[in-house]
Amino acid sequence: MLPQAPLQPLNLHWLTAAGIDVAILRLDLIDPLISGNKWFKLKHHLAAAKQAGAKGIISLGGAHSNHLHALAAAGRRFGFETVGLLRGHPVETPTVQDLQAFGMQLHWLGYAGYRARHDADFWTPWRERYPQLYPVPEGGGGLDGALGCGEIVRQARSQLSALGWDDYHGWWLACGTGTTLAGLVLAEGGQRRVYGAMAVPADHGVDGNVMDILGVEQGGYQLLDASRGGFAKTDPQLLAFIAQSEHESGVPLEPLYTGKALLALSQAVQAGTIARGTRLIFVHTGGLQGKRASSGL
Ligand SMILES: *Cc1c(COP(=O)(O)O)cnc(C)c1O
Repeated sequence: MLPQAPLQPLNLHWLTAAGIDVAILRLDLIDPLISGNKWFKLKHHLAAAKQAGAKGIISLGGAHSNHLHALAAAGRRFGFETVGLLRGHPVETPTVQDLQAFGMQLHWLGYAGYRARHDADFWTPWRERYPQLYPVPEGGGGLDGALGCGEIVRQARSQLSALGWDDYHGWWLACGTGTTLAGLVLAEGGQRRVYGAMAVPADHGVDGNVMDILGVEQGGYQLLDASRGGFAKTDPQLLAFIAQSEHESGVPLEPLYTGKALLALSQAVQAGTIARGTRLIFVHTGGLQGKRASSGL
């Protein structure tokens, strides 16, 4: 078990001016190594692996993958074997160096090899090579990934009164696959709205993935484009906004997910689409480990 993520008031002048209360759930603080939403997405997969009698996990990701990073760190911490199948050709990123230091066995698939990950027979040779390992989809996705994220809702609710809140109106978070958002929607059961700031362009299929997990066409959530032209694309306005917000709030952000999600919130506030008196929980989904490659952190 990892400690609870702190729920903290988010102090930014544009929120105060608009009369909107935001608390930030700091998933980046649950652990120095196993950070962010990826731990929650892994929980049910790990339980399923244990149930299946597996000795560890095999999964996929890129050279900056927060998912593989959390998985490898968890394997090291809790003593299970991990294998990572990586996109592209060998590179030495800070993330990759950590994966190796945590004892994850790496295989580089090239780009075509990685694109084949959705093929029906993709896993066959890997199952033969690592029969003792349990395969987990890219990013820890699927229904199991979403169900683990219900814990995020419970952690936030248990801290409302300490914040002086009796209730809240909704959630705001960054989406990559939408799995975490789907988990919040399931846990809320339509009671409160979940706003997903998509860090990837609309053609990445977030909508379809969320609907696949929720099973039915369910309401209770709204997806907004926060990609700023592409995943991993940044621009001077975004970077200036992040620097200003970090300085004012004291909360560290990164430009791929959390920075884009907060900028999208500020734009929604500016556009007047969020009513005065609204109380929102902004989920800090972590990802700070990946920041080292771009900023020398
Ligand atoms: C993976 C990730 C996300 C996206 O999570 P999904 O469940 O794929 O939508 C958001 N923020 C950070 C920091 C991430 O690493």
